[in-house]
Amino acid sequence: MNGRSIAIAGCGPCGLASALLLARAGNRVLVFERFAEPTPIGSGLMIQPTGLAVLRKLGLAEQIVGEGARIERLHGMAGKRVVLSVGYEALKAKPAMFGIGIHRASLFAALHDALQAEGIDLRTNHAITGSSMTGGRRCLHFADGQISEPFDLIVDALGTRSTLAPGDSGELPFGALWASLEWPEDLGLPTDTLSQHYRRSSVMAGVLPLGRGGKTRNRLAFFWSLKGSDHARWRDAGLEQWKAQVRDLWPECEPVLDRISDPAQFVFARYAHRTLERPAEEAMIHIGDAWHSASPQLGQGANMALLDAWALSVAMARNSDIATALRDAVDLRRGHVEIYQSLTWLFTPVYQSDSRILPFVRDRLVGPLSRLWPTNRIQAAMVAGLVANPLPGLGLADA
Ligand SMILES: Cc1cc2nc3c(=O)[nH]c(=O)nc-3n(C[C@H](O)[C@H](O)[C@H](O)COP(=O)(O)OP(=O)(O)OC[C@H]3O[C@@H](n4cnc5c(N)ncnc54)[C@H](O)[C@@H]3O)c2cc1C
Repeated sequence: MNGRSIAIAGCGPCGLASALLLARAGNRVLVFERFAEPTPIGSGLMIQPTGLAVLRKLGLAEQIVGEGARIERLHGMAGKRVVLSVGYEALKAKPAMFGIGIHRASLFAALHDALQAEGIDLRTNHAITGSSMTGGRRCLHFADGQISEPFDLIVDALGTRSTLAPGDSGELPFGALWASLEWPEDLGLPTDTLSQHYRRSSVMAGVLPLGRGGKTRNRLAFFWSLKGSDHARWRDAGLEQWKAQVRDLWPECEPVLDRISDPAQFVFARYAHRTLERPAEEAMIHIGDAWHSASPQLGQGANMALLDAWALSVAMARNSDIATALRDAVDLRRGHVEIYQSLTWLFTPVYQSDSRILPFVRDRLVGPLSRLWPTNRIQAAMVAGLVANPLPGLGLADA
């Protein structure tokens, strides 16, 4: 049943998609965001066929495909060894599946413009500190001491460090520096591939093509993994020392390094891993990173957030009682969420840790296997977000 009053907390991909879907279904929706100007922080991300299916339902897939870079393959090298080689073609899907490398700002702008076109009320400058129940409905509390009107439902889409969700944020030791740059003309890397180079598991550099995003030149995201505890040291050491390390790992990146002259070109993203056991509470649901966050090794977070938003809209439309709808929304997503949280938990140390054994096995076993059937197909399904077949149960199989 629709026609409810709903507060959406946070205007990341999850909050914006939820707002659009729930408003289009006839609910009265208000979005609250802490920033004065709603802007995405960070660089690029990869949209998978799962996220694209939701964007298609929102009428935004064409725009996202047009603005981003079509990614056909993920390729990883450790020295001269190929240790990761995943192509979407292994899925043998018709029509062919692919990923989209896109700047966060392009994804944000597409969703935000759609929100504005629908006339959905977005209240910026509202830092949320908590919530409370009154007469069976829930209010939001803000940092300036104000309390909102009561809502039938609050959707917590505040991300990993949600102030509405219990527990800590589960920060991991590793994160990464990310910069968005123009694609240098003399960069000899494929424009349809997420390319990465590793040394053991503690050093990783990557180039993700981002497409044009409405600009005249193609862009890329360059990332470099770094421990949170080493970030200050990296900044103090100066760029030249770091550039020497990158050259040593991946000499082909020289044209990218030429475009980096200031540490301020990088955003440092600290990764976290946590899953809420009970994402549904009385008159409140935690979705997206507020429910489950993980390091982006498998590049699923934004896609999972879009699937959560879609599942919530499906459950709200087919249940008259909010508590039942929230249980239904969680049931629709729990299996897929649990599998991907476990997979990411397993794979993260293979690519980001101080272990010497894991990368040794990865480089000698996983790399060669990843080129053979059925490993190539399993890996492609994993990257595409399709393990546990999440789309048919959500009515997205044809999207
Ligand atoms: C470096 C990096 C690379 C990634 N790469 C990928 C990728 O390739 N593919 C992929 O699918 N995912 C990727 N992810 C994960 C993805 O970014 C997240 O999973 C996704 O953004 C989650 O969306 P969300 O809307 O749930 O939360 P968020 O995007 O975190 O949005 C939360 C929103 O809530 C607002 N907010 C937070 N706290 C408050 C508060 N107290 N009061 C008011 N507003 C608040 C924030 O300002 C923000 O607008 C990556 C993440 C990182 C860090």
